[in-house]
Amino acid sequence: MSGPGTMEDALGANADPSWLLDDDGFDPLRETSRESRFAISNGFLGIRGARTINRGVHSTRPPRTYVAGLFDAFGPEQPIPGLVTGADWLQVRISLSGGPLAGPPLEMSSHHRTLDMGRGALLTGCRLSIEQLAGMRLRTLRLVSLSERAIGLQLLHMQIDEGEVEITLEASFEGVDLGLIPERLNQDLGVWRTHGSGRGLAMGTASSLQIDGQDLAPTALGPLKWSWTWTSRPGQVVRFDRSVGVARSDTRDVDPGNVARENLDVARRLGWRGVVADHQAAWASRWQCSAVEVDGDAAAQQALRFAIYHLNSAANPTDDRVSIGARALTGDDYHGHVFWDTEIYLLPFYILTWPEAARALLMYRFRTLEGARAKAAGMGWRGAFYAWESADTGAETAPEQVIGPDRQVIPILCGKQEQHISADVAYAVWQYWRATGDEGFLLDAGAEILLETGRFWSSRAQPEADGRRHIRGVIGPDEYHEHIDDNAFTNVMARWNIRRALDAAALLRERWPERWASLSSRLGLDDTELTLWRSAAEKMATGLDRKTGLFEQFAGFFDLEDIDLTHYAGRSVPMDVVLGRARTQQSQVIKQADVVALLGLLPEEFVGETGAKNFDYYEPRCGHGSSLSRAMHGMVAARLGRCETALRYFQQTGAIDLADTHAAIDGGVHIAALGGIWMTAVLGFAGLSLRSDGMAIDPQLPPNWRSLGFRVQWRGRYLRIKIVPGGQLVEATLEAGEPMSLVVHGEPHELRRHRTLHVSTERLNRPQAPDPSSSQPAC
Ligand code: BGC
Ligand code: BGC
Repeated sequence: MSGPGTMEDALGANADPSWLLDDDGFDPLRETSRESRFAISNGFLGIRGARTINRGVHSTRPPRTYVAGLFDAFGPEQPIPGLVTGADWLQVRISLSGGPLAGPPLEMSSHHRTLDMGRGALLTGCRLSIEQLAGMRLRTLRLVSLSERAIGLQLLHMQIDEGEVEITLEASFEGVDLGLIPERLNQDLGVWRTHGSGRGLAMGTASSLQIDGQDLAPTALGPLKWSWTWTSRPGQVVRFDRSVGVARSDTRDVDPGNVARENLDVARRLGWRGVVADHQAAWASRWQCSAVEVDGDAAAQQALRFAIYHLNSAANPTDDRVSIGARALTGDDYHGHVFWDTEIYLLPFYILTWPEAARALLMYRFRTLEGARAKAAGMGWRGAFYAWESADTGAETAPEQVIGPDRQVIPILCGKQEQHISADVAYAVWQYWRATGDEGFLLDAGAEILLETGRFWSSRAQPEADGRRHIRGVIGPDEYHEHIDDNAFTNVMARWNIRRALDAAALLRERWPERWASLSSRLGLDDTELTLWRSAAEKMATGLDRKTGLFEQFAGFFDLEDIDLTHYAGRSVPMDVVLGRARTQQSQVIKQADVVALLGLLPEEFVGETGAKNFDYYEPRCGHGSSLSRAMHGMVAARLGRCETALRYFQQTGAIDLADTHAAIDGGVHIAALGGIWMTAVLGFAGLSLRSDGMAIDPQLPPNWRSLGFRVQWRGRYLRIKIVPGGQLVEATLEAGEPMSLVVHGEPHELRRHRTLHVSTERLNRPQAPDPSSSQPAC
């Protein structure tokens, strides 16, 4: 992609509105949601979509620069490690004859904000008409580079139509003394330290301003602050650009200042045009690998674009010391902590469209394996018990308590009891290995994670008098029920985890015997222990009732009060608030997909019609008290052929961050739900799954979708797939790589390079199991 010739080019939005997200005017009540939605990020830096010019009225979350991995705990305010933010380097203040241009943003006669999702840029514009300056148009762009992640860029373009007045533009950093300890504040460089964790942050900056093409010299006003003053005249064009080079250091002995300067030098050498051009090219290549195109449903297309935009923004393949927090780098809810969200809801997207990012995310789990071992040992178990909430070291960072909606103190048991996290990590490791065949990763990191998590479960599931192994005292994905026994999700995932650990051991022993010898000796793993694992897996209690085919969510679940959720359809708060915690805990009301999540992850555990049976039992009992829930239901419903139910969940998931209905978007976008949107489309409607010899698809599209197109990667191959139900066709093209197998509706086909495979999908019209949860026709 060629770069911008002029600043005007750079500030122009994509001509195709389907790539844009627009927002006009200013609504103080919705401003914080908009800041989340319009955030930009590159997995290292993240900036909310707050207004740059004359932010007279501050939102409740002051604008800051999020820096991945910059965690700190300090004092009573932040007793557990949380993401601390760097200063806001985008501040611009404009004054006329010494007075402010506009105080509160409300005085701006017009303002719009456009997220150009195709190139990861936030554009803003406003027109001003006041007495001294009857016509001025201001346009800005901000980006954090996707090709050089340590670089941020701001462009500002001012066109004077009428008015002669003295104008001062002041460019500064805001929040230099908040959250971090300023260590050195020079004219063009700031260096900060965290209070407790010993991490460092540095930001170097350079800016320039031209009037009608001529450089105007700035006045230095003190650290990180400059101003330019001139007299306006009709027809005048003012162009301003500012770049930052950022560096994080993870140890006290490294001064990040030099690295930040080097990063700034890269920006300087490139010039703003080069920065924009490289960034756009990087985005174009991300979209090339990850775009999902829906024809016939503009809202679905927008939901997918928005989701994929944020997914591509959230990861950083070049830093394997960080992962993606529950709100990515778009807000500070959950303190930037990493949950199972990443492995279960995000990794499918990265594994299949951006394996380098997937690898880095999994390497973060390898780097935090020591913390997981320490956590298991501290609780009397063996192997690795990952942190439910993880920050930088792998130590548990879940708070011990939070304040509930009724101001009551609620103890949080998740850090100790939500143990399925270890199997979730193992699950993602295995999927990555299957999809990529990345031997280096398996040998250096993946196998050890599988073995240590398998070992955890073997020590955790205790044999009892009934001859079964039981896992007591846990919390499943449904966090409404605590301290429960034999959560089906946990136990079946644990069994699966142990079996994959045994598979990894067998694979290493056979193919890389030396590696196996060194790894097993380092881990103190011998055949006697492996035999014990095998028996632990065989004897695991699962809660499956063979007569009905139902998994009991946990021991005793079916005896709890059964509440008909249709009576609460109009509620505006979660079910645990409606019923109160105590009654919810004694009921079958579920917070989020639990057995349904098991069906989503391990469909092979559900034989014949039992998948549908379990879905039909659990779906009506789910209150969807988590943003993750509907996406998983959507994916599973799509695979069951319940296309309208799936589409409803897909739409509701899309609305979480795109409609102003979900109060909690203030704290950042729900990145797991966004991952779930992609999962529903590709793993659900297209029915994509991994096989040992290739991939399989089993598409069933919603009736109004005229086609669904997407790209995925499998072991170094690049595939383009398009499903056209109207034309009864699946079109698959292998764009790069060796031939491979693609199974369509159960029938294998060979894919060869550049020879598009056309498969008739007559069976798309095959009779579907009726969907009892609605009166809709099956698609
Ligand atoms: C979440 C838990 C989390 C807790 C404390 C709750 O809202 O559901 O998963 O551990 O907050 O952060
Ligand atoms: C959910 C968890 C999730 C967490 C972070 C909670 O509300 O129950 O499953 O990991 O949010 O997104």
